Amino acid sequence: MEEDTEGDRLHYITKGNVMLLHKKSATYIAEVSIDTFIGEIAFFTAKPRRATAKSQNFTEVLTLMKEDFVHAAKKDQKQFDIVEGIRKTLGSKHNDYTLLGIECHLCHEKGHISLDCNMYTEIKGNMRQQWLKKMKENEWNNEDQSGEIP
Ligand SMILES: [Zn+2]
Repeated sequence: MEEDTEGDRLHYITKGNVMLLHKKSATYIAEVSIDTFIGEIAFFTAKPRRATAKSQNFTEVLTLMKEDFVHAAKKDQKQFDIVEGIRKTLGSKHNDYTLLGIECHLCHEKGHISLDCNMYTEIKGNMRQQWLKKMKENEWNNEDQSGEIP
């Protein structure tokens, strides 16, 4: 899933880990796993995707297409009004996603995403650092494993 693309689908992770990053600023945001939604802002608003999601290993997701979602909602006027209400409310508030129950990966407050967080400026451009940290962790893991081999 690439940032700045249209959010025509909503994903729900059922297996594996997904890394969230902001390619434009070379920033690692967080790693999310099972029971997490990805792409909900772009899905419920007309805004393009804010972040890029990359699977870290074998990952399984449930996917809901926007087309199917709107089609199903249109079958019941009440449901359709709710969906329209969510879209309008989110569109009228600048970067306020309280309605979607979104929690920031950096400060863990509800209502905003990491890219709009004050703490984001501190981690901006941290991709190389994160990569080196991961490499180190893998080295440790490999050493542990080799110790078990007779
Ligand atoms: Zn925050």
